[in-house]
Amino acid sequence: MNKNLLYRSIPKVDTLLADKRIQSLIHDYGREIVMDLIREELEDLRESINTSEHEDIVRKRIEDIIDNIELRLRKLHTPNVRKVINGSGTILHTNLGRAPISRIQAEKLVDIVTGYSNLEYDLDAGKRGERYSHFEKLLCRITGAEAAMVVNNNASAVMLILNTMAKDGEVIVSRGELVEIGGKFRIPDVMEQSNAKLVEVGTTNKTHISDYESAITENTKALLKVHTSNYRIVGFTESVSSEELKPVAEAHDLPVIEDLGSGSLIDLSKYGISHEPTVQDTVRAGVDVVCFSGDKLLGGPQAGIIIGRKKYIDAMKKNQLTRALRVDKFTVTALELVLMEYLSEEKAMKNIPVLRMINESQDSVRKRAAELSRLITETCPEISCETVDCESQIGGGSLPLERIKSAAVSLEAGNHSADFIEKRMRMAPVPIIPRTSEEHILLDVRTIPSEEFPLVAETLKDIYQ
Ligand SMILES: *Cc1c(COP(=O)(O)O)cnc(C)c1O
Repeated sequence: MNKNLLYRSIPKVDTLLADKRIQSLIHDYGREIVMDLIREELEDLRESINTSEHEDIVRKRIEDIIDNIELRLRKLHTPNVRKVINGSGTILHTNLGRAPISRIQAEKLVDIVTGYSNLEYDLDAGKRGERYSHFEKLLCRITGAEAAMVVNNNASAVMLILNTMAKDGEVIVSRGELVEIGGKFRIPDVMEQSNAKLVEVGTTNKTHISDYESAITENTKALLKVHTSNYRIVGFTESVSSEELKPVAEAHDLPVIEDLGSGSLIDLSKYGISHEPTVQDTVRAGVDVVCFSGDKLLGGPQAGIIIGRKKYIDAMKKNQLTRALRVDKFTVTALELVLMEYLSEEKAMKNIPVLRMINESQDSVRKRAAELSRLITETCPEISCETVDCESQIGGGSLPLERIKSAAVSLEAGNHSADFIEKRMRMAPVPIIPRTSEEHILLDVRTIPSEEFPLVAETLKDIYQ
């Protein structure tokens, strides 16, 4: 390869700038950004000559230089965060944004965030208000707690609670509850960050009430329970419930704190899911401060909800950390809208997408799977697919053993490999995230709303044809 010749065939910046198409790109996108991208493209070209890429590849790149600059511009102007179709059947998929918000809630949200709002303005008094006021009463009514506040996520809620209630003191926690949640959230590390000293008691599989009792010293500030939401220890086990812990704490004038993780506000055992203590149960058991996520079983925006005794919540509101962890208007607005649904359990089950997905019967999913399968075949007869039974998962570190009987559309890869199809699905304009099993690609229909069916069919058509 004659490198010098190739270098010389790269157009000059001035030549490019004089080109009509570049002129029109400058008109549409602005001069500076187009100049930047021309420079980047030229640099990359020189680099590829330097590293001796195949000559014809380099020549083609030089030939297509304007197309490539335009492509760079388009890419830069396409948001990277995009809608995806969740065919994995995992309802709370942390990598896919956890809980979806309903369209009705989202439309109300748009109205609030595109203008000004009374986020921190008390309309009755005509003066500064509190951003927590919008949902504090609601949260108290729904959970039975005295007071409530909200921070960015549950990890920050745990940190704020410990920093407020146990700074420079000791917090007792069972060895069976020193959990790591996805994304490097480890209870021992969070405690260190909050300047509370962790005192571990019991063993991995067994912790007795006497373990807590004998660990209490004058430095003890609180007893902490952590819901082991993402794993189960089975077999020879024993743990102490918050209810049992409460009298011990009271005798020593100590508060009980519980990190519930998913924090369901509805007893899902009524809907065929294994029983988990609800937030209300925990408050009723006398736990002084409870925290849980806004975007797990609650089905709302990312948030860390803290409820409990007023004196502790008031102290947290005054903590300097709160300012750093505060929620924005998107969260405040979405959370109030979602919480309002909980005023009626029936409404919540119907209007909150996460709960609706958990509660959909297998028969109903099967019917919808058949509908999707039919639509796919109609749109693209080359695709061979059928409906099969499968199992969905709740996900998000909630109820790890729970499987919900579901149904899927199973796609055959045809002339391609399942890997190839899966990759093309991920690269589609609206990516589809399936569940792959050997030579079949499964789309669990529980997590695909019927409104998305036409989009799924069209996307598959583009891939298979
Ligand atoms: C999920 C979870 C967290 C972290 O909650 P985020 O809202 O994701 O920050 C903390 N503790 C427990 C027990 C959890 O299950």
